[in-house]
Amino acid sequence: MAEKEKNFEEVTTHLITSGFVYQGSEIYGGLSNSWDYGPLGALLKNHVKDLWLRHFVRGIEYNVQIDPAIIMNPKVWMATGHVANFHDPLVDCKYCHSRYRADQIIHEQKPELDVDGMTQDQLNDVMQSGEILCPSCGKHEFTPIRQFQMMFKTFIGVTEDKQSEVYLRPETAQGIFINFKNVLRTTRRKLPVGIVDIGKAFRNEITPGNFTFRTREFEQMEIEFFFKPGEDDKWFEFYKENCKSFVEKLGLREEKVRFRDHEPAELAFYSKATTDIEYDFPTMGWGELMGIACRSDYDLGRHMESSSQDLTYLDPETNEKYIPHVVEPSFGLDRLMLALCCDAYEVESLKDGADSRIVMHFAPELAPYTVAVMPLSNKLVDEAKKVFDQVRVDYDAIFDTTGSIGKRYRREDAIGTPLCVCYDFDSANDGCVTVRERDSMAQERIAIADLNEYIHKFLKKNQVK
Ligand code: ATP
Repeated sequence: MAEKEKNFEEVTTHLITSGFVYQGSEIYGGLSNSWDYGPLGALLKNHVKDLWLRHFVRGIEYNVQIDPAIIMNPKVWMATGHVANFHDPLVDCKYCHSRYRADQIIHEQKPELDVDGMTQDQLNDVMQSGEILCPSCGKHEFTPIRQFQMMFKTFIGVTEDKQSEVYLRPETAQGIFINFKNVLRTTRRKLPVGIVDIGKAFRNEITPGNFTFRTREFEQMEIEFFFKPGEDDKWFEFYKENCKSFVEKLGLREEKVRFRDHEPAELAFYSKATTDIEYDFPTMGWGELMGIACRSDYDLGRHMESSSQDLTYLDPETNEKYIPHVVEPSFGLDRLMLALCCDAYEVESLKDGADSRIVMHFAPELAPYTVAVMPLSNKLVDEAKKVFDQVRVDYDAIFDTTGSIGKRYRREDAIGTPLCVCYDFDSANDGCVTVRERDSMAQERIAIADLNEYIHKFLKKNQVK
């Protein structure tokens, strides 16, 4: 079963046509780079979140989940420096008016330069040097860099003035920091403590694109892990290991994933170490899925100073008082999903190339539907429906009655359903159904009474420990 070379557009077209993702606001002509998840995408998302929560909350005894608000007091973003510094360096081509992020096009055309360590003046000098070409028209004259605020602004209440200005959060992390004291007080926990949050974040990106890789509205899964200063290396390594085992559970191909340690010049001044996990996307190449950062006492320190609240921790064992240090693993859910879909997609040739099928090889517990139930003939719909009702109590299941059985199997392969259950003319007599497995296409006869247990065992057997 040879695998054909994939390309990014082929995968994303498949995601759109099969119902994982829809164009945002499609009936109004769309909204640039906005995407909606369809039924398959929403199920896949639920399963990835579930796995993440099982791994990082249930699986790590120190961690608890919270669900803070998207709109916070704007003082939060002043304290963190987002109001002053959350900018991208924007340039326009003077000829065709295409708009770019200066650091991005410099990095693409002069990868030998360390853009993350460059000041705005240095970026400007490179942009004006005549050596950078507009990817759209090939000319080399750009406007000077302007700093572009990436936080979305809105207003609360009835008046639209400076006092009622608020921001949509550009990351979920700050909702965690500002609740650090609340969590300690109400859970009566001692350090180390991890607080996790899954939710939407918003960034007015200048150059969104590559499908759902870079959008203006996306979902993050973040952990802020608080501990005694000095234990930074230990917990950084702990989370590197845990993130690695989480990525293994996702089933991504090993050779397509890499950990990239940031160079000293790339690090924020308060950070001792940062590692990104990257995925080698078809056509697009390596892209960041998540980052793990040592953030020292930076965020709590800033909020303490800004709010005049005491955010120190009194160690009950040593009586020491300190601002805890933090390790932050920060995942982008949409990018993880895109990586999963690119990784899972395969056009598989069958019968020595005489036939082929599209298969999404999702890890079974992540696949949108775990099981599809189908009657062999329309005469068997009522009986097959009873089997469907039996399995959908425990699993995400789909009932499919249209087309030949072969076509229905192919349809399920193309959306990654790991098991198909066929109710046929023998089923009424022997009380069994045929179960077909997606990857091997092997079929076996299973008693209807044992079907839910069979699916349970199948999922367990295929789970990465
Ligand atoms: P990038 O350098 O790609 O802009 P970042 O380093 O700014 O990303 P972080 O602030 O570290 O990203 O956010 C953590 C995670 O959130 C990223 O690893 C990514 O998966 C996700 N993320 C960030 N920005 C976007 C976006 N515009 N669209 C989709 N996901 C995003």
